[in-house]
Amino acid sequence: MGKVTGFLEFERNDRDYAPVEERVRHYREFVIPLPDDEVKKQAARCMSCGIPYCHNGCPVNNQIPDWNDLVYLSDWRGAARNLHSTNNFPEVTGRICPAPCEASCTLNLDDNPVTIKTIECAIVDRAYAEGWIVPEPPAIKTGKKVAIIGSGPAGLACAQQLARAGHDAHVFEKSAKAGGLLRYGIPDFKLEKGVIDTRVTQMEAEGVTFHYKAHVGVNVPADRLVAEYDAVVLAGGAEKPRDLPIPGRELKGIHFAMDFLPQQNRRISGEALGKAEPILATGKKVVVIGGGDTGSDCIGTSIRQGAVSVTNFEIMPQPPEHEDKLLTWPDWPLKLRTSSSHEEGAKRDFSVMTVEFVGEGGKVKKIRCARCDDKFKPIAGTEFDIEADLVLLAMGFVHPVHEGLVKALGPDLDARGNVKADTDAYRTSLPKVFVAGDMRRGQSLVVWAIREGRQCAHAVDKYLMGTTLLPR
Ligand SMILES: Cc1cc2nc3c(=O)[nH]c(=O)nc-3n(C[C@H](O)[C@H](O)[C@H](O)COP(=O)(O)OP(=O)(O)OC[C@H]3O[C@@H](n4cnc5c(N)ncnc54)[C@H](O)[C@@H]3O)c2cc1C
Ligand code: SF4
Repeated sequence: MGKVTGFLEFERNDRDYAPVEERVRHYREFVIPLPDDEVKKQAARCMSCGIPYCHNGCPVNNQIPDWNDLVYLSDWRGAARNLHSTNNFPEVTGRICPAPCEASCTLNLDDNPVTIKTIECAIVDRAYAEGWIVPEPPAIKTGKKVAIIGSGPAGLACAQQLARAGHDAHVFEKSAKAGGLLRYGIPDFKLEKGVIDTRVTQMEAEGVTFHYKAHVGVNVPADRLVAEYDAVVLAGGAEKPRDLPIPGRELKGIHFAMDFLPQQNRRISGEALGKAEPILATGKKVVVIGGGDTGSDCIGTSIRQGAVSVTNFEIMPQPPEHEDKLLTWPDWPLKLRTSSSHEEGAKRDFSVMTVEFVGEGGKVKKIRCARCDDKFKPIAGTEFDIEADLVLLAMGFVHPVHEGLVKALGPDLDARGNVKADTDAYRTSLPKVFVAGDMRRGQSLVVWAIREGRQCAHAVDKYLMGTTLLPR
């Protein structure tokens, strides 16, 4: 523990955002980093608890008190080494993780947790700036080949671990670039894509081979990979969106969030949209249905594109603004969360049920809604209409896409339609086929995908070599 009295001396001070009127004019990140001296003070607030709940709250079990101490002592390089021992991509989680570690921090009992995510991001950004993050190729190659299908955080973490263990890791990705939802789902204003490119360059130098536009089960036969590789890891995510099959769903102007968001990310990076019909919020009254991360990203993107208005409906009732700490801590509390995108000008409404889309000339014009009760039944007499000429459906994802890869291989699925495997062996019902990330656990978080990718690499290495030195 660096400074015994740190938590008594220093107030919590977190990164700020650029003002709304400035940041909505562009798609770049707008979080303002703290100066290094302030980061050190924030790290000094850590009490190095006997039972560090933060460490348990973090899905990759980052050794948070240890690197807080190293930062306080100005050993940034040691902190970066420690951070990378549990997390392949802290530059990503330091930007977009909801930080369950901070919810678990003992100092969150009075709403002043250590600014763990900010410290994490400062460590890795400094490590890049200083040139400390270099390729770590293996000393010895094993001669084994592993195919990893999908280059989201689960596939990337798995591939990096396997390459460092000496295996030939081949990543097959249906898109033109690596990153999965980091690249095509999460907007640039939350995560600029150069962050992914830099990591991919490191991985290539470590021996990972990327095969782009390789849609396994469509233009690359799945059984060929199983035959040719010593092991295959399925890391294709949970891409099947939840639909809203109500009258009028067929009208033009109603789109899934993941038809809309990737287009903007592609525009920014200069990637062709192909034959897809352009979807733009410019000059439109936008209604986003679904109040989670995806909905929030649709709001921020619509506002930057110049929407006339953005309304966000959520079927669940409005959660409390403040959790009852003694009931929830150190777990992740249910409470009202206001993202930077919400602050940019969206109108949010809760307990709203969408009953019908009403159109004119084949295009959506308004939405008929009603308030709903706690059993999600419409309450008579509460019906209302709202004008809308772009509707974005952001109600989550039900399971992986089954057509193509999953049907071609035919692994057992769980009751929710995800590929079935436990979290010890990560093995599917098929010989030498493993699964990790959203494809196994259903739609989740980046940090869980990184954890699963790492743990799956441990399991694959053990399967191939009989033993493993990779951490779990
Ligand atoms: C809009 C949006 C915003 C989000 N924001 C956040 C956030 O702020 N913070 C957070 O922690 N989490 C966020 N999430 C959730 C997070 O992005 C996912 O949980 C995480 O990316 C899952 O990682 P994954 O590697 O399992 O799958 P994915 O990231 O979905 O990657 C799967 C990859 O597999 C590829 N693929 C699929 N099938 C095939 C095939 N047959 N052949 C070849 N390639 C294939 C896909 O193209 C994709 O690249 C968000 C999700 C969405 C949709
Ligand atoms: S719970 Fe908070 S104060 Fe305790 S060790 Fe973790 S970061 Fe430090």
